Amino acid sequence: AFNLTDRVIVITGGAGGLGTAMAKTFLDLGAKVALTDVGDAGGEEEAEKLGENAAFFPLDVTDSANIERAADEIAERFGNVTGVCANAGIAPTSPALEYDDDLWRKVIDINQTGVFLTARVFADRIVKAEKPGSIVLTSSIAGLSVVHPERHVAYGASKAAVAHMAALLGVEWAKKHIRVNAIAPGYIDTSILDKMREENPETVEEWKNAMPIGRLLEAREVANVAAFLLSDMASSITGETLACDGGYSK
Ligand code: NAD
Repeated sequence: AFNLTDRVIVITGGAGGLGTAMAKTFLDLGAKVALTDVGDAGGEEEAEKLGENAAFFPLDVTDSANIERAADEIAERFGNVTGVCANAGIAPTSPALEYDDDLWRKVIDINQTGVFLTARVFADRIVKAEKPGSIVLTSSIAGLSVVHPERHVAYGASKAAVAHMAALLGVEWAKKHIRVNAIAPGYIDTSILDKMREENPETVEEWKNAMPIGRLLEAREVANVAAFLLSDMASSITGETLACDGGYSK
């Protein structure tokens, strides 16, 4: 049967739209959820609403010492993590010719390095616990195709790296019984899109119209795909990037 009973699952970027939807979905399927995010993102309040099988742990994905500390706290509270959603990400836009050096580095640091550090720290613990694990990295359709031609170079490049990282880690860790896959969501109606709406309202309207299914996605629909990849139902799948985009990338 399809469930995540008694699995301990950590989510980075857990205070955000997709992260909180993942938390609710995994809890409904029987998991314990460690919601993590930077301290001021509102994760504490989100976790409180989720009940006793969820808790918040501050964690900045750009700093491996910080991830290690959170991993210790999570293990103490819930036991060994065997499910990981490396989901933290930012999506600032700027034309490539004007892309600021520091902003470029920040996007790569959070979206690409942060995903790797999260995967590495928790995979190491999964191996040491001698348990099978499943890791889901959040890529994007922006990493599979050029969806926002003039303003999305750092984001798209970082998300393409995440998709390929899933393939590399999935193969490297296959014999260690850790599956690694990525999800590549289409446009989800979350706060990341609200920011985009402020900068470029007409673009968000264009995206909606460009979705073959004719609407933006609900975060829960994407969380369902992550739940599937974390579960034993996906035991044959590793190194894969699954588009969940209503047909947009086809
Ligand atoms: P969101 O902005 O609501 O959530 C992102 C979260 O990441 C925020 O809570 C933020 O505080 C956190 N974060 C930022 N920097 C961090 C850091 N250094 N350490 C830890 N956490 C950090 O956006 P969302 O839509 O929930 O996005 C979740 C993921 O899904 C992101 O990786 C995003 O790129 C990806 N994605 C979103 C869409 C969409 O349409 N919303 C589409 C495709 C992919």
